[in-house]
Amino acid sequence: MEEKIIVAFAGNPNSGKTTLFNSLTGSRHSVGNWPGVTVERKEGKIKSTEAEILAVDLPGTYSLSPYSIEEIVARNYIVEGNPDVVINIVDASNIERNLYLTTQLIELGKPMIIALNMMDVAERRGMKVDIAKLSSELGVPVVPIVATKNEGLKELISKIIEVKLDKTKALPKQIDYGTKAEKKIADTMTELQNHPAADKKNLRWVAIKVLEEDEAVLKSLGMEVPDYDEDDYDLMDLDDDLESVIADKKYGYISQVVGKSVKKPKERMLTTSDKVDKIITNKWLGLPIFAALMYLMFSLTFGIGDIFIGMIEKGFESLAGSVASFLENVGAAGWLQSLISDGIIAGVGAVLSFLPVIIILFIAISILEDSGYMARVAFIMDRAMRKVGLSGKAFVPLIMGFGCTVPAVMGTRTLEDQNDRLATILVAPFMSCGAKLPIYILFAGIFFPGREANVVFSLYVLGIIIAILSALLFKKTIFKSKAMPFVMELPPYRLPTFKTTGLSVWERIKSYIVRAGTIIFAASILIWFITGFNLSGQVELNDSFGAGIGRIIAPIFKPLGFGNWQSSLSLLTGILAKEAVISTMAIIYGLGETIGNAAIEGDVLGFSATLKEVGFTMASAYAFMVFSLLYTPCIAVIGVVKRETNSWKWTLFSLAYQTGVAWGFAFVVYQIGKLLI
Ligand code: GDP
Ligand code: MG
Repeated sequence: MEEKIIVAFAGNPNSGKTTLFNSLTGSRHSVGNWPGVTVERKEGKIKSTEAEILAVDLPGTYSLSPYSIEEIVARNYIVEGNPDVVINIVDASNIERNLYLTTQLIELGKPMIIALNMMDVAERRGMKVDIAKLSSELGVPVVPIVATKNEGLKELISKIIEVKLDKTKALPKQIDYGTKAEKKIADTMTELQNHPAADKKNLRWVAIKVLEEDEAVLKSLGMEVPDYDEDDYDLMDLDDDLESVIADKKYGYISQVVGKSVKKPKERMLTTSDKVDKIITNKWLGLPIFAALMYLMFSLTFGIGDIFIGMIEKGFESLAGSVASFLENVGAAGWLQSLISDGIIAGVGAVLSFLPVIIILFIAISILEDSGYMARVAFIMDRAMRKVGLSGKAFVPLIMGFGCTVPAVMGTRTLEDQNDRLATILVAPFMSCGAKLPIYILFAGIFFPGREANVVFSLYVLGIIIAILSALLFKKTIFKSKAMPFVMELPPYRLPTFKTTGLSVWERIKSYIVRAGTIIFAASILIWFITGFNLSGQVELNDSFGAGIGRIIAPIFKPLGFGNWQSSLSLLTGILAKEAVISTMAIIYGLGETIGNAAIEGDVLGFSATLKEVGFTMASAYAFMVFSLLYTPCIAVIGVVKRETNSWKWTLFSLAYQTGVAWGFAFVVYQIGKLLI
């Protein structure tokens, strides 16, 4: 064995980094068709008989700016981790955009090899790459590969070993930024020569970063970070600052290099994917198509799912019946019979009854994601949101929020700007997560029969609009910062396969069922207890703890149209998990007691009569759904918000803000609805 060689893999998201890493190391990390799937650094040994090679897979990034955690992780590793060789994975079919990162890696001055991936796609598009020319222009070895077919991997490994023996073969040529900028860079390098904290081996890079006013580098040098506020940005003539001069030169350099070494077919062939994108991401058609697809999705969801709800519900009712008679036969205590039938089966069963609808929605969302469509939605949103100073990249985690807000909040790690990130965390809970759906299905089914899809669609849209407006408000007030340019690679369309879509649908269903079996199970026991007891022991529902607590907070909801204790208690338990709103109602109203009613159309769970009895009307039912959509997220989300913001202040602010907004909107909806209906 030779001595150990450490190589770092750097590249844009979706350049095939993980695919290459996996086939070289034989490991199996998830390969994603979604930006930001790889957040952490992964390591693995490359199988080779000639040398011991350790590969480090860095997060995919479009640049090495200091704005996102991933970019900082990537560049810190390259600068401080001192890998022997940097492997820059470049997507040949998207070469210009990918080389932007390359121009930044060049500045780091490390030995570098370019793995020119996706050569199959490039060839299919009729591109011809002169590898030798590209290599001499950049000053580093270029190895053409097709990561998915293991083509070129042997050559890549031999190159790595070659470069380890002679680094001079892979030292990139530095980019000439023009006389004026180069003089500034040289002056800054001289100034930094004696600075104790400056990295002397990377002095050119440090100097360029200082001139670009890179916050992280300035801080490490103990220099002042210029603090602009929004007015400054408006006044600044951006053409004159060095940062954009350097960026311009980089783009110029790229087109020069590509011009010399890559031949594209004269008439750029429009691939089918390009043609589809022309329509789907069209300025005028993009949003209406998205809205139409969502509408279609809900219509399908209800059209098909509705048929099954009644069936499952009946199943639970007869289960409750047989369990009850079994318990009676074995002589179980009365309270235990009640706990199991009226508490657990009712509470968990109510939530599971909605599974058919949820599964269909999960299938629809997974197909949209796997096909690459959701990435286009972020792209469309970017154009709309950039106008108001937000990055469309923020929309990617928000879309994840349709499933569950927890991964949505974690997904904000991909945002480059801390202020953007905080703003997105604060608005992510407004997106309608899967756990809120049972509430809509119940209320829309009872109060808006036949129009469920419209009602649910309106709630999803309301959530999106309020999230965007709130983000805008935050960006204009507390989280001022300039909008970061967003370059999003559109992943190729793929026909969702049964395997990948099935897997992600199953993951979602599994977590829904696991939640029903754990947190909803526990919540049902708690709810059964507080609605059946008070300090003097087992009592009537109306005298229970739960009723008492509900009555205390009920006045808050009176102006919203649902000032009864039952609804108040349900909303309160909904903080444990949104599905618990339904479990609470099932336990209070008795899921098993209305057998037969469920068969009546629109009488979801047989709650119709009881909900109307406690005073619900169409207006207050809609207000209740709006409130459920917008108010405080569940404790799991509160936990990640705390972890990701690392601040109780922002966590509490987010709870207060969301509940305030929820109250306000539900109030308006109810007051106006009352007049109209
Ligand atoms: P990463 O984001 O850079 O880690 O990229 P992934 O490894 O997740 O790959 C993104 C997508 O590109 C996946 O669908 C891969 O199957 C696909 N892919 C990777 N390398 C190639 C290649 O050489 N040719 C083709 N046609 N597809 C590739
Ligand atoms: Mg990856």
